[in-house]
Amino acid sequence: MKTPIGKECKYFYGDYYRGRHIEECNLLKASNQTWSADLCRTCPVPGILQANACEFLQLRGVVNRPLTSGFQRRVQVTAYCEKIHKDVNEPHIGCGECHPLPPLFEIKPK
Ligand code: SF4
Repeated sequence: MKTPIGKECKYFYGDYYRGRHIEECNLLKASNQTWSADLCRTCPVPGILQANACEFLQLRGVVNRPLTSGFQRRVQVTAYCEKIHKDVNEPHIGCGECHPLPPLFEIKPK
């Protein structure tokens, strides 16, 4: 479903039937976070879902006010692979278990 800013996101739910106006983010709802439509504007999730469709990738989202955004509310995402049971550092790319990358594209741990 498309978010209020027009990006496709599987976590967004909108019900506008017969004058209703119910909008929710199921990613933030799962973490008991308060959602508002402005968060979709800078949220990384639609980009991650577009780049990585792995069925084992689990995303978790929280709302923070990072210094880099001037303390504006932002969705921050962490990713976990249900197949290898490890955190995924680069959710756009994935953990590399199912779809190994050539060495040229590997990300070295910091
Ligand atoms: S906040 Fe992010 S995850 Fe939630 S509906 Fe908007 S784009 Fe999707």
